[in-house]
Amino acid sequence: MKRIITTFLALTAAFCAVIQAQTAQETKAWTGECYAVRQQTYTPSFEIDGSDAEIHNIILMIGDGMGSGAVNAAMYANGGSLTMTNLRTMGYVRTQSANNTTTDSAASGTAYATGVKTNNGYIGVAPDLSELENLPEKLSELGYACGILSTDDLHGATPAAFFAHQGARGEYDAIWEDLPESQLTFASAGTISRFNSLGFRVRDAIEARFKVISAPDDTAAIRKSKRLLYLPETVATKDRGDYLPNTTRMAIEYLSARSEKGFFLMVEGARIDKQEHANDCSGMIWETLDFDKAVEEAIRFAEKDGHTLVIISADHETGAVTLTQTTPDDGFVRTVFASKGHSPMMVPLFAYGPRSREFSGVQENSDVSNKIYSLLK
Ligand SMILES: [Zn+2]
Repeated sequence: MKRIITTFLALTAAFCAVIQAQTAQETKAWTGECYAVRQQTYTPSFEIDGSDAEIHNIILMIGDGMGSGAVNAAMYANGGSLTMTNLRTMGYVRTQSANNTTTDSAASGTAYATGVKTNNGYIGVAPDLSELENLPEKLSELGYACGILSTDDLHGATPAAFFAHQGARGEYDAIWEDLPESQLTFASAGTISRFNSLGFRVRDAIEARFKVISAPDDTAAIRKSKRLLYLPETVATKDRGDYLPNTTRMAIEYLSARSEKGFFLMVEGARIDKQEHANDCSGMIWETLDFDKAVEEAIRFAEKDGHTLVIISADHETGAVTLTQTTPDDGFVRTVFASKGHSPMMVPLFAYGPRSREFSGVQENSDVSNKIYSLLK
């Protein structure tokens, strides 16, 4: 009898251990369920897609943290389509940095901006801290007008990689101090209050080179200006309205009018990443759908212009996002976040316009930058 009881107790303990292990594994994932309000998407004609037409302009669009999970979640929540998933040319991007298989936005932004992999935390400098030439520096020499636009602060890692050279991404004031020496013709990111908090010497240096505005309503002053810095009151999720798509259109118009040769524009949807860090399903979808509205602006311009290539990708994946269920007709998705940080997953790339096929297949984030430069050279 004693042996039977002992065996029974041992089996019960083993069973409980298995249950506990399963529960422990399940609690690593944070589930989010959400519905989204459906928005229109745009499908271009594809006449210019993959053609050998001359390229005058390139628009690089970076969804910060926008991996396959975010794209899928936003697509199904939007009834099954996005402007970016309506495109036909697709590739994958490997994002690892020089010193880590999981990159941060500083190292990946630098790879996209300069064509060189660097260490996490570094902005526009190599692992040995030497300065790297970014696309605006290389392309302005060839006569292109260059611009950046982001829903982050201007000192955020991705926009900063396109104008600053700093060994630490947190050196915000030093990043702002690099702006007057940059080769940007147009820049927009948050916020005017951050600009006003800078020392007056830095502000004077910036204002000596840029017309600084906090609202896009003074069209006469904007038209007269040679270089424009548009710093809105807010870039926060949902508070900023249609800032990202509207400013994408504004940047395209502004840059088109300032160079005969053509332009390069980087547009960042910065807050997809921030929502994923918080494992906020509906925030992630809202931000990805907002980014897709900016994609639509770029694709509509490319379609009309015929000499513009649009590249849409991400600097890294965030949240290890996956989907377990969806009802696209209802805009319902159930997502699982397996992480609160970045992941080493490859990220999707979509392209539209002349020579778009050069971006298909698997490539490094630094390759994307080098291809952009050789196409415009
Ligand atoms: Zn992040």
